[in-house]
Amino acid sequence: MSYASLEDLLAEGVRGRRVLVRSDLNVPLDGNVPSLRVTDDGRVRASLPVLRKLSEAGAAVIVLAHLGRPKGAPEEKYSLKPAVDALEGLADFPVRRASDTTGESARAAAASLQPGEVLVLENVRFDARETSKDDAERAAFARELAGLAGSDGAYVDDAFGAVHRKHASVFDIAQLLPAYQGDLVQAEVEVLQELTQDPKRPFVVVLGGSKVSDKLAVIDNLIGKADRLLIGGGMVFTFLAAQGHKVGASLLEEDQLDVVRGYLSRAAKAGSEFVLPTDIVVAEKFAADAGKSVVAADAIETSPYGAGGLGLDIGPATGADFAEHISEAQTVFWNGPMGVFEFEAFAGGTRTVAEALVAAGKSGALTVVGGGDSAAAVRGLGFEDGQFGHISTGGGASLEYLEGKELPGLTALERN
Ligand code: ADP
Ligand code: MG
Repeated sequence: MSYASLEDLLAEGVRGRRVLVRSDLNVPLDGNVPSLRVTDDGRVRASLPVLRKLSEAGAAVIVLAHLGRPKGAPEEKYSLKPAVDALEGLADFPVRRASDTTGESARAAAASLQPGEVLVLENVRFDARETSKDDAERAAFARELAGLAGSDGAYVDDAFGAVHRKHASVFDIAQLLPAYQGDLVQAEVEVLQELTQDPKRPFVVVLGGSKVSDKLAVIDNLIGKADRLLIGGGMVFTFLAAQGHKVGASLLEEDQLDVVRGYLSRAAKAGSEFVLPTDIVVAEKFAADAGKSVVAADAIETSPYGAGGLGLDIGPATGADFAEHISEAQTVFWNGPMGVFEFEAFAGGTRTVAEALVAAGKSGALTVVGGGDSAAAVRGLGFEDGQFGHISTGGGASLEYLEGKELPGLTALERN
């Protein structure tokens, strides 16, 4: 299986052609209609390079994007206008905006669009057919979108965060026009392929976060593939309880105990080693200034807070142990904070793991951070994106890829 890239499209030539680009302009907004403000323009900035390359090559570019979760009809608070304003402020190419998706405004603007210009249509989710479960409805909407590009048009998917959605602007449209991966999708897919197909070993996976049940499918798919699975965060306590230890008032998913026991016994046979914490930072209560105490992971209730104590971070010995495993790795994938990093007092484990990834990256390992909170954690702790091999932009999409699921937006782009 292979994909055609933006480079391939540029090599074919785009001058005078109309090219549809699915971008990720789903930016966070602040304020109220009509004075909404973009609070983080990261996704707009990330979308610029592909639009610029196409504009410079003389394509007339039509951007498809969504914002938030409107219910299939126009709603001013989900208008792409603030995102388009942000794009216009950052772009060195002319930016136009349509006030609808495939209506009169979009059709007129697309018809008069000049080479080098970039037209952004309104939120594709303002049309209920975008997300419809009915194949025929989605296909009809995709035909209207493709119609804006005309007979020599092309489609570029640059919105990795949406590739796990079977939506008209992601999936169906790619059946109607020659389809290419944009740079953002290509970069994500290359990294994810490296993680899943032939990772350099040792391949160490660090998993944390609040809920085991969210990550079960990922753990399941990585057993037998990863050499070591280091477990931190809130999911630790379900693992410790599965081994028969008491965990006080820590997060515990009782209904997952059997599943976790199954993983522990399967891993041993499959050649993957689970590495669990040996010490835990136990807090008196869930608060930034709570009293805390470090105890052995198999004796959580021996803390001064007894059965009421809550494990909110991995302990320092565990941090050092995890860092050592990470330093020996050639490939590291990290998803989920090691503790409640939002409270400085319980951010130590997350910081230690982030530092270990940075050091491993410096000595040549591929380091990948996935997950919304994980990315926010490393940035919030003062690390730069460039210190990691890759920070995944699409939390849900990258996890589903690692779960081994088929992603409709990628399947649609495959060429044989
Ligand atoms: P991601 O978005 O990176 O996939 P998750 O959403 O799974 O990560 O988990 C992030 C959350 O997990 C954070 O808000 C963090 O406070 C919480 N967390 C981590 N460790 C613990 C713990 N020991 N107890 C409770 N919550 C925890
Ligand atoms: Mg999260």
